[in-house]
Amino acid sequence: MPIIVQKFGGTSVADSKKILAAARKAIRAQKEGNQVVMVVSAMGKNTDVLVDLAHEITDEPPDREMDMLLSTGEQVSVALVAMAVHSLGHKAISLTGAQIGIVTDSTHTKARIRSISTDRLRKALDDGNIVIAAGFQGIDESNNITTLGRGGSDTTAVALAAVLGADACEIYTDVDGVYTTDPRVVPEARQVRQISYDEMLELATAGAGVMHNRSIEFAKKFNVPVHVRSSFSDNPGTMIVRDPEAPNMPVCGAALSKTEARVTVLGVPDRPGAALSIFSKIAAKNIAMDMIVQNEAAGDRADLSFTVSRDDLPATLRAVEVAVKELDAEGYTHDDNVSKISVVGLGMATQPGVAGTMFRALADRGINVEMITTSEIKISALIARDRAVEGLRAVHEAFQLQLPPPETAVRTDGSSLRKAKIDQAAMVARLQRMEKLVIDNIDLDETQSRVTFLDTPDVPGQAAATFDALAAASVVVDMIVQSGVRDDRANISVTVPRSDFSKALAVASKLAELLNCPAPTHCEKVAKLSVFGVGIKSNSGLAARMFQSLATAGVNVELISTSEVRINVVVDAKDGHKALHALKKELADALA
Ligand code: ADP
Ligand code: ASP
Ligand code: MG
Repeated sequence: MPIIVQKFGGTSVADSKKILAAARKAIRAQKEGNQVVMVVSAMGKNTDVLVDLAHEITDEPPDREMDMLLSTGEQVSVALVAMAVHSLGHKAISLTGAQIGIVTDSTHTKARIRSISTDRLRKALDDGNIVIAAGFQGIDESNNITTLGRGGSDTTAVALAAVLGADACEIYTDVDGVYTTDPRVVPEARQVRQISYDEMLELATAGAGVMHNRSIEFAKKFNVPVHVRSSFSDNPGTMIVRDPEAPNMPVCGAALSKTEARVTVLGVPDRPGAALSIFSKIAAKNIAMDMIVQNEAAGDRADLSFTVSRDDLPATLRAVEVAVKELDAEGYTHDDNVSKISVVGLGMATQPGVAGTMFRALADRGINVEMITTSEIKISALIARDRAVEGLRAVHEAFQLQLPPPETAVRTDGSSLRKAKIDQAAMVARLQRMEKLVIDNIDLDETQSRVTFLDTPDVPGQAAATFDALAAASVVVDMIVQSGVRDDRANISVTVPRSDFSKALAVASKLAELLNCPAPTHCEKVAKLSVFGVGIKSNSGLAARMFQSLATAGVNVELISTSEVRINVVVDAKDGHKALHALKKELADALA
């Protein structure tokens, strides 16, 4: 019999009426001939209430006790939903994460799933029950209750769909589906009919709270088609699948992450292993670094900037302080009043001018860009928090995301879902740990050059002017890295195809002359190494492992950029093969 997983978010079970409506949806699916697993979140804003309560008691509640507390929210909902199904005349059983057998690691408040046993679930389903599973929670090997991180019920749902080989995974929420950006912030946003895993993963990590990012890692890894739709209507919703809606559109969506903090470590000795000592100290605290940029610096020192979530700033600064002393770096600065705007799209890899459009939209409103990172399918810019919403709207409008997609847009039909199911089972069987990092490939690209615009003035419009000038000279830009600001100046590094090197250098030299900046630095032959796969950024230790292996091999890293699906590092071309070999060796256990 086909299995359906239906997940109901907090607003979808916020009161008894809504709980009964959710129960009816599940009963309808069962009557249509499916076995049904419901995954439910805590009612309404209950998790927030519990978090606030804990903070009334203490500033730093122990993580283990936090999990004990927060897991109660979901326990309340599962019981009530099961009662609702009963009251409507159908069989139901509620189960906590532990009762299902969702085993996680012991990283309280952001635990990762190791394994899920299906015996009890299957038996309950075969007995005719609708199974009501508590989202967001699990149990570690010592029987401690754990939680998967805020928004983690999505991840429970997709993970259960994967292990059960479900035919559908439906995410019921308070909007009609996935939009080009948060429709509550930008009301003109358009609902997309379909979006690819890679795009959704980048958007979710960039701040699109509609899906928990790790749920999309699961969906991609185990080929689970995810259907996001409204609890309160029968509108068709959005399919999250392998293929994008419109492959030729450069941008499919924009996202805002409001509460970011930037840290810049100044004057880091430019030698192998320096970045590592900073990264590993932060990774040891299970803090995910986001925009990581190391910029080529004048002399033998570099500045290393990165962002972390504002909540993680105090712990991050404690780690940085130790690293600065150890490395004999010049010091550090930080800013906790910044937000990150990102645009995402599979089509941008092949289209020039996307960065220019984004920076021009911000510049036209006098919004200054403090830091930039790009990946093949994402451009992120760090700006002041008080301009964040205005910036998001400007960018959304600049890419005309409110307009309908071209007629060529596609929509996946059911046939690919059946095929997906087979791959899913094989994948589950192969992995020892379900949320294990999987590296699909490590690429060596030896066709690029690097040019660095030094000491460009930190004023609105500077990034736009730089990319306008490059576009006017028809230079195709690949990686873009703008460092954190120092003395009101920032370095912007780009990589370009080697055939465009002299054009790019000419643009940079001319601009330097015009702005009275130092002459650009450059390296005609660089090698770019890209590690890509699933879980790249949420496995916080990966960057540290990569830098450890490169440092041991004596390879110096010139530029770094990260995204949810890949980490790029640029090294001198003469070190390319050595670096590739080192990374392959280091990551052998994760290579698919
Ligand atoms: P649930 O409780 O159902 O899990 P969430 O609040 O976690 O619901 O997620 C739904 C919310 O996500 C929406 O109300 C919306 O404000 C927000 N959101 C952010 N970005 C997007 C987007 N790109 N598309 C749709 N909703 C978005
Ligand atoms: N109740 C949890 C939260 O609010 C998990 C979830 O809703 O997905 O974060
Ligand atoms: Mg949610």
